[in-house]
Amino acid sequence: MTFEQLSEQTTEQNYKLICSRVKKAHDRFDTDTSLPTIIAVSKTQSSEKIEQLLDLNHRVFGENRVQEALGKWPDLIEKYPDVELHLIGPLQTNKVKDALKIFNTIQSLDREKLAKALAQEIEKTKKNINCFVQINLGQEEQKAGIEPESALDFVKNCREEYGLNIIGLMCIPPFGEAAGPYFAQLKLLAEQVEVKNLSMGMSADFETAIEMGATHVRVGTALFGTRSLPLAK
Ligand SMILES: *Cc1c(COP(=O)(O)O)cnc(C)c1O
Repeated sequence: MTFEQLSEQTTEQNYKLICSRVKKAHDRFDTDTSLPTIIAVSKTQSSEKIEQLLDLNHRVFGENRVQEALGKWPDLIEKYPDVELHLIGPLQTNKVKDALKIFNTIQSLDREKLAKALAQEIEKTKKNINCFVQINLGQEEQKAGIEPESALDFVKNCREEYGLNIIGLMCIPPFGEAAGPYFAQLKLLAEQVEVKNLSMGMSADFETAIEMGATHVRVGTALFGTRSLPLAK
């Protein structure tokens, strides 16, 4: 067996395993709701690797950099037009136009200036864009996101002032801490601000997140294997 065949088989095996782990975790949470969406986080991964998942009929992917995504995805989207691409990394307002060329969902809406820029570009392009508001649950200085106590006003403002389609909340809990309490907090917050979707949980903790009500999990390493170092900015 060549190395290529071996790694292909591994992506397929990883994918099947993740799907079954997602289903089992979801059964423990609630069998009446629909299965959580697996966002395959393909940042730094090659088009070849991504295509292995597309060939398995997976269609929902996450990228964290607009430039990288613009380089990789147009050709893939041409071949697989029903791809759904989520931006999960920070978005600068001067990249909004580029981002809306390929992303369907912005998960990192974290400030009013960005809400305004998104609204203006959506108005121009008439594209149907979904947004998650990123919440800074750990109140970490260096991390993006809306403070939990401002979430209600922010979501309301995004909807009423800017007409954005806010469908959920997203969080990245502080590294190295147990994520469970943060996931529980995001779930409560989502009820308060009246959004249905929760994007929480990554390779290390997606099952915990699902047991606490995640509707979207963002899984990279557990699907594709370890990433090469991110490209320099
Ligand atoms: C990279 C990334 C992920 C995926 O992380 P893994 O641990 O590789 O599953 C999820 N969410 C965000 C915001 C990321 O940047």
